[in-house]
Amino acid sequence: MYDYLVVGSGLYGAVFARQAKEAGKSVLVIDKRPNIAGNVYTEDVEGIHVHKYGAHIFHTNNKKVWDYITRFAEFNRFTNSPVANYKGELYSLPFNMYTFNKMWGVITPEEAAAKIEEQKAAAGITEPKNLEEQAISLVGTDIYEKLIKGYTQKQWGRPCNELPAFIIKRLPVRLTFDNNYFNALYQGIPMGGYTKMVANLLDGIEVRLGVDYFDQKEELDALAKRVVYTGPIDAYFDYKLGYLEYRSVRFETELLDKPNFQGNAAVNYTDAETPWTRIIEHKWFEFGKDDAGNDLKKTVISREYSSEWKPGDEPYYPVNNEKNENLFKQYKALADKEEKVIFGGRLGEYKYYDMDAVINAALEMAEKELGKV
Ligand code: FAD
Ligand code: UDP
Repeated sequence: MYDYLVVGSGLYGAVFARQAKEAGKSVLVIDKRPNIAGNVYTEDVEGIHVHKYGAHIFHTNNKKVWDYITRFAEFNRFTNSPVANYKGELYSLPFNMYTFNKMWGVITPEEAAAKIEEQKAAAGITEPKNLEEQAISLVGTDIYEKLIKGYTQKQWGRPCNELPAFIIKRLPVRLTFDNNYFNALYQGIPMGGYTKMVANLLDGIEVRLGVDYFDQKEELDALAKRVVYTGPIDAYFDYKLGYLEYRSVRFETELLDKPNFQGNAAVNYTDAETPWTRIIEHKWFEFGKDDAGNDLKKTVISREYSSEWKPGDEPYYPVNNEKNENLFKQYKALADKEEKVIFGGRLGEYKYYDMDAVINAALEMAEKELGKV
């Protein structure tokens, strides 16, 4: 008999399991995938740590989370500065003075602010009600048309005026020359890869891979006093109220026999016609070097294609619009009645959580929970 069965070895499950172990509890972690680490899993290809389920850059302002996670990995000084490619025109991201200078030829912050104000006024937006209006009121119509509209519609498969405004608020807008994508005090990539970091979190904890909870739910439940479930909340209830919508992502990954494909970790293709959203060149997360510090002669790139999730696909991004939020609330009400089970993480809580927020949520849950068994 274990104190806890943790379903899912992603960051939420791994952090909860670590905390439980440190509190003296017995823990069994299962995952249906053949590997640990959930979506932050990295795989070694010719010395390059390939982010198999999408590029992950750790960033946080939360010192508690930073102090915690740096116990399990040393982080490098990587700073995310994606480049936007709009039909061959290159722009700096996030939106900052370099972007405004390239777009409009403006030199000073006053000129840039005036240009945004002029475009916002012409569009007549006072209270932004959706992503399109929010974007225009933040950066004006030119940037919206070239750098946001096509990318967002590809990413979410929905027109920008049917998407919630908060999605775009993730992106900083700055009147300074600063290409650092994140407004975070702490940022970097775990040296040696994310998989190693999660393996450190799970050190000394029993993990069974290739085990789908729903294939043997009764037997597994019988093994533990409490269950921490980090899979999709609607799957837990066999989708009986209907499917929550997700965006899925397909990655086309290639090993190239050249040292440098695009000169940057991320290039976003922001036009509507290019079928992929972005290309990731994994080696640049670690400055083109292998673990021993040698220059890598080859490179691995991944093209990302966004698609609507359908049963059998990997769910990636919860689509947090009104319809799904309402359905989620109904599932949440059912979840609250499952006394033995805690629902956590990006899928269990149907939340667009970053890694630091997932770690924080797992730490808080552990604090609340671990006295109970
Ligand atoms: P997951 O990592 O999804 O783990 C859930 C685990 O549960 C999986 O391993 C799954 O196999 C397992 N599971 C599910 N169902 C079952 C079952 N029935 N039986 C057994 N096991 C099951 N965050 C950042 O901070 N920075 C970034 O740059 C960033 N980039 C991202 C890019 C992409 C493309 C995506 C999709 C997300 C990104 N994120 C980023 C968010 C980050 O991935 C998540 O916050 C984090 O990985 C969520 O961890 P989790 O444990 O909740 O979920
Ligand atoms: N976005 C955009 N153009 C870009 C990059 C992002 O319009 O070049 C928008 C898009 O709507 C996206 C949102 O900003 O969904 C958040 O982007 P971010 O890169 O933070 O999303 P992630 O994929 O990392 O979750």
